[in-house]
Amino acid sequence: MTLREENFWLTTVAMPSTDRSVSLPETADVAVIGAGFTGLSAARMLAKKGARVVVFEAETIGWGASSRNGGMVLTGLKLGVNKLVRVYGRERTRKMYAASLASIDCVEQIVREEGIACGFSRCGHLEVACKQAHFDDYARQVEVIAREFNHQLKIVPRQELRTEIGSDIYFGGMVDQISAGVNPAQYVADLGRAAMRAGACVFEQTSVENVERATRQGSQGWRLATSRGTSWARDVFVGTSGYTGAATPALRKKIIPIGSYIIATEVLPENLAWELSPNNRMIYDSKNYIYYYRLTPDRRMLFGGRAAFFPESRDSIRRSAEILRRGMIEVYPQLRETRVEFVWGGTLDFAFDIMPHAGQMDGMYYAVGYAGHGVAMASYQGQLMAQRIAGEKPDNPFEGIPFPGAPLGLYDGRPWFLPLAGAYYKFLDWVS
Ligand SMILES: Cc1cc2nc3c(=O)[nH]c(=O)nc-3n(C[C@H](O)[C@H](O)[C@H](O)COP(=O)(O)OP(=O)(O)OC[C@H]3O[C@@H](n4cnc5c(N)ncnc54)[C@H](O)[C@@H]3O)c2cc1C
Repeated sequence: MTLREENFWLTTVAMPSTDRSVSLPETADVAVIGAGFTGLSAARMLAKKGARVVVFEAETIGWGASSRNGGMVLTGLKLGVNKLVRVYGRERTRKMYAASLASIDCVEQIVREEGIACGFSRCGHLEVACKQAHFDDYARQVEVIAREFNHQLKIVPRQELRTEIGSDIYFGGMVDQISAGVNPAQYVADLGRAAMRAGACVFEQTSVENVERATRQGSQGWRLATSRGTSWARDVFVGTSGYTGAATPALRKKIIPIGSYIIATEVLPENLAWELSPNNRMIYDSKNYIYYYRLTPDRRMLFGGRAAFFPESRDSIRRSAEILRRGMIEVYPQLRETRVEFVWGGTLDFAFDIMPHAGQMDGMYYAVGYAGHGVAMASYQGQLMAQRIAGEKPDNPFEGIPFPGAPLGLYDGRPWFLPLAGAYYKFLDWVS
């Protein structure tokens, strides 16, 4: 079989279809921009609360990162807990960590309530140390997480690592049993169906081009100019993540879009698959230039990483296939003769402080900045922001924290500095 430049997950699901002949409603209570986990989980909850919700998606449901990711439903944040405590203090960090655990419960609850057959399973995650110093840091993290957040992780010393992974290149590992795995395309497809069942109107192939304040019959709100006409809404919620564009320029300046790429091999023999990942964990390593990998439900090795820093293009996807295959063989020499059948890419959203952020900017609501930890957190932030828009006061520890822009304001949303950042992180991996 030749290499297919397409998202493996999409070959396993039927995405929902929407009627493209329906015209836009003149008004809505809430307009949601983006039909990924963030936008759809907000739309579902708002519609269940009785709001008239319209979702605008420039492409198709789940087209962004939400259908393309590794399907790892992870505890914790991208930044380690020691750094979080240093920056935000104990109390706020405690809430942030609790939110990361609650976000997994949130996905589990949506899956259960909506009967979504996306293979949600609490298989746990394994982080593996690329250096002795990284492994030493695991012990410190486990201690802080147990003491401060009452959450238990397990250290796996190097000599026991074969019980977790069929590779000898790491210095040890750390397991969190609470994390889960899903088929992300199935999850986002059925989240879209659930939002529509609840009453949200989803408009695919409808790009929001401009949003401006507009009063209508005495009510303050927003006029949204889209590729299919205009609409008015009392509130706007932006869930555009790494694909945030010119329609929301202030938010765009706060987000760095970073490419991430994945390959999937041919189906592996059962005994080889279990040798590679005996407990079927979601696995990632401790580098800045990270590799993340897992088995798919049909026993392929799905292996991802930041093979190029720029957002995906035909060129970067093609080049990534070979870079990631070499990375995979470094980890698993057993896969030297294994065919790679799929390669694809997607765009992550990083804030300058590598933290999730939610709240209101220029009067519009938003939730962004998941930094590769978005399957669970985006679903959760969508729900929290839906509650917020509905006038409730959920405790959201990512609201109200400083949301830095680029140093000296040297950024207009086009990430000219990514090659430099890529080189810098490679350098950090080499020296630290
Ligand atoms: C390759 C890859 C692997 C990943 N692996 C993992 C993982 O294993 N675990 C994990 O937790 N996270 C992972 N992530 C991150 C995770 O997928 C994202 O954080 C999450 O999907 C973000 O969801 P979202 O709904 O906010 O954004 P998206 O799913 O990206 O959706 C944003 C949508 O907004 C639409 N849009 C943008 N602008 C407009 C506009 N003007 N008008 C209308 N629509 C617009 C886009 O078309 C897009 O569909 C990965 C990401 C990538 C790319």
